[in-house]
Amino acid sequence: MGYMIVMKFGGSSVADASRIRHVTDIVQTQLDRKPVLLLSAMGDTTDHLLEAGSLAIKDGKTEITHIEKLHLATMKNLNIPKEEIKSLLDELIRLLSGISLIKELSPMTKDYLVSFGERLSVRIVAAYLKSIGINAKAFDAWEMGFLSNSNYTQGELLKESWDLIPAKVLPQIKGNVLPVITGFLAKDDKGNITTLGRGGSDLSATMIAAACKAEEVQIWKDVDGILSADPRIVKNAKPVQNVTYDEAAELAYFGAQVLHPRAMRPCMKTGTPVLIKNSYNIEAPGTIIKQTLTTKTSELKDLPVRAITSKHNVILVDIVSTRMLGQYGFLEEVFSVFAKHHISIDMVATSEVSVSLTLDETYDLGEVRNNLKKIASVEVKTGKAIISIIGDVKRSSEILARTFKVCQQIGINVQMVSQGASKVNIGFIVNDDEAAEAVKALHLDFFEE
Ligand code: ASP
Ligand code: MG
Repeated sequence: MGYMIVMKFGGSSVADASRIRHVTDIVQTQLDRKPVLLLSAMGDTTDHLLEAGSLAIKDGKTEITHIEKLHLATMKNLNIPKEEIKSLLDELIRLLSGISLIKELSPMTKDYLVSFGERLSVRIVAAYLKSIGINAKAFDAWEMGFLSNSNYTQGELLKESWDLIPAKVLPQIKGNVLPVITGFLAKDDKGNITTLGRGGSDLSATMIAAACKAEEVQIWKDVDGILSADPRIVKNAKPVQNVTYDEAAELAYFGAQVLHPRAMRPCMKTGTPVLIKNSYNIEAPGTIIKQTLTTKTSELKDLPVRAITSKHNVILVDIVSTRMLGQYGFLEEVFSVFAKHHISIDMVATSEVSVSLTLDETYDLGEVRNNLKKIASVEVKTGKAIISIIGDVKRSSEILARTFKVCQQIGINVQMVSQGASKVNIGFIVNDDEAAEAVKALHLDFFEE
């Protein structure tokens, strides 16, 4: 349907007047593609709102000097009348005094509180676009069809949103309006404001793009896209130009802080391409995430591996059945114990009588141990890391061979191996204090030599 694109700008991209001017420049180069803008709150405003909420409870203060200053100074600099946001700031003060009186900040009120960040930023940016002659209009997400459940602070969009959103957005586009929409927010069916979880504006963007069948969604960040490794560990990490949704999901889960797997889901459904671009470096090609890879790129022909990530603070649990060999139902019993305690397992390797699995170090395993003791002996090893190699698993023998060779050369012992069901990820467990060295050496072998 609609010939349009969605452009999402995060907090750092709209952090002040000069960043907003820069965003406007980027938008102006693509006006003929009918952009819809999705914005986060300016800078760290979400955090500042939460702090103001805590302060209201603790000291009975309604303190928004910081927030007010940032937004008013930005508007002054952009030459927009402050009336645009006056009523919102008044409403925010009233809310904070309410919180300070009842000394309570329920998840529902928290969502109402943080909503001011995005509601302010879209009004400012839309007003600025208007002032330079672009027919922009600010919208709150709920005016554009974002309907969620009532799981406050972690709202999930209801499936009705798939019809509601295009029904609201497309007429605006047809009317030649450039909608500037709040990311992160929705309302539930009782009419209360909800949020989609921290960092949720990526999801807002992909949802609009998928529901409106947009040509693409551009997520503008402050990095050159998905990198082949964490640049803090690997100096020569390179941007990866093409990845599939599955690869990007694995990357995000195992440590690449670029796009939350949840945010990819709507576009995976419809096959809408997601383009990650750097607003500080427009020339960089960025990363395109889509269903299948364009095999034309020489990058893909030569390299079996797309990226290497590591996840730290992992526990390795070895569970050996104390029952007779071949007893059926062992794995089921083991997993049901973890499920009962809501513990999420990352990697699994099994044999007939034993299973090794990995978990986040944050879990308390006391109860689990007691339960498992009835059927197995349990050994818990802390201080581990998962190294994930995301790549072409049709070439897994080559990847495995090279990985083991590299680890052997640098004297690092691989303690467990597992190949994810999505067939794009091979995971290795090593000691946490050896992980950085292993990632460096593997990156050198796969990408730099
Ligand atoms: N402003 C929200 C946050 O900081 C949502 C977002 O930026 O995506 O979490
Ligand atoms: Mg933010």
